[in-house]
Amino acid sequence: MGFSQIINQEPAKAQLVADLTAKHFPSYLFVGAAGVGKRTMAVVLAKALCCENSTYDACDECYRCQAIERLSYPDVRIIYPVPPGATENDISLLLKNYAWGKLRPESPSNGSISIDRIRELKYEMGFRPIAGRRRVFIVIDADKMTNEAANSFLKTLEEPQVQTSFILTTERSSALLPTIRSRCQPVRFFGIPKSAISDFLEKKFSASKEIARIAADVAEGSIRRALDYVSNPEQFLSDEVRILFEQKATIATNLSSLSLKLSEIPIRSLVNSFLFVYRQTLLAKLGFETYYSKKCQKLVDPEETISLEQVAAKLESLLSTLSDTELYLNKRLFLHSILVRYLA
Ligand SMILES: [Zn+2]
Repeated sequence: MGFSQIINQEPAKAQLVADLTAKHFPSYLFVGAAGVGKRTMAVVLAKALCCENSTYDACDECYRCQAIERLSYPDVRIIYPVPPGATENDISLLLKNYAWGKLRPESPSNGSISIDRIRELKYEMGFRPIAGRRRVFIVIDADKMTNEAANSFLKTLEEPQVQTSFILTTERSSALLPTIRSRCQPVRFFGIPKSAISDFLEKKFSASKEIARIAADVAEGSIRRALDYVSNPEQFLSDEVRILFEQKATIATNLSSLSLKLSEIPIRSLVNSFLFVYRQTLLAKLGFETYYSKKCQKLVDPEETISLEQVAAKLESLLSTLSDTELYLNKRLFLHSILVRYLA
């Protein structure tokens, strides 16, 4: 129960249980890649901090533990990035996606945590916890706070807080204000080993051995990526993208008809497929054998003449493309540029 539900991350669990046992309640910064259990751990820690039956873990049976799981406990709040122009209604609808047991949504690339959210947090802090002994604020992707929000939040962190705990999560701690980082105790989250991921998929999702193995292979340590694969393997290497690579030679002559055809596919999944192919190629070049690596190396580089640096450069530019996709209003123009840059 409680912490034991989380796959791996033993050093993080040990650190948190030691703090709880010593009644030491710092502000935490959970740092690690996407899909390794930061949000889940934050919810378990919130339960342990509020639980009626335990002081160092969640019992999962008391009213508070259960209400926190449903995200309906008044003293535990989750703050997360929202896209620009989101209404209060949009924001509360988004909250459902952060519920326990759900794969939390990927942060919108243009999303942010606004000063308004931090003001609400401060307002609530003016009162005593409503139901229990502690109040917990979980700030997901804390690096997405706007400057104004981050500076205002910093002031809160600097003031001594009674009965209030903060848990911040981030994939990029370097993007946080150094002064926020230094006020928090860092807790590191690591990539989850393949065997733990495939076990989890077989036991909890009744995935077949074969599917679980491939998913663990492509997951790169992230449970979220593994589950993404199980729910939609196509998005990792769609047939359309595979065919594109296989027919590279004819692309220059068919650019217009091809980009028309591809315009049916969401740009993000197209870029993700390209990323997947180049990642697997990179792994093959580095000598790591995975289910796909051979296949993808042959797609990108049948003669094996492209250098490691060239593959790395394409990966890097694809990654920056991914964060720009919303900016490409002219989808066909964007598709043209993708085709020419990555398949030529
Ligand atoms: Zn409990």
